[in-house]
Amino acid sequence: MGTNYYLYRNPDEAEGKHVGKCSAAGLYCWDCHQTLAGGGDVKKVHMEIKPLPACPKCGKKVALTPWLSPKGNLLKANEFNPVLVQLGLQKPGETPLPTGIAGASSFTWAMPIEEAKGHTLIDEYEQVYTWEDFERKVLAYCPIQFTDSIGVDFS
Ligand SMILES: [Zn+2]
Repeated sequence: MGTNYYLYRNPDEAEGKHVGKCSAAGLYCWDCHQTLAGGGDVKKVHMEIKPLPACPKCGKKVALTPWLSPKGNLLKANEFNPVLVQLGLQKPGETPLPTGIAGASSFTWAMPIEEAKGHTLIDEYEQVYTWEDFERKVLAYCPIQFTDSIGVDFS
């Protein structure tokens, strides 16, 4: 589950170059910049590994409030939820940046950031972003970034 971003091209042109992919990356302590997902190992945030019960740096515990109630009602719709963003139920960048323990997204770069910087981007749903919008609405919510797939063809 994730959203791919490309360099903007005119609609009649072939697909733009792949910039990278934003994915939900589990629980994260935004105060300490520490992931709780993947057992606390940033390289394992996308694996099915139990998250840590608390931040190993500040000790804040994971709140018991689930993101979805048992009946499936959305809770805390005004708070950033990377899963809702990926499902298209929350628009990127329209919630305040989280503090404490909350969900985070990751961004897996397909090209060096310097190559994308300053360009207009388009996501796979045809939403267009200026570079500034992309930084503010997408990258700001992706405290985890991977550069080991640069130059690799993935989606
Ligand atoms: Zn912490």
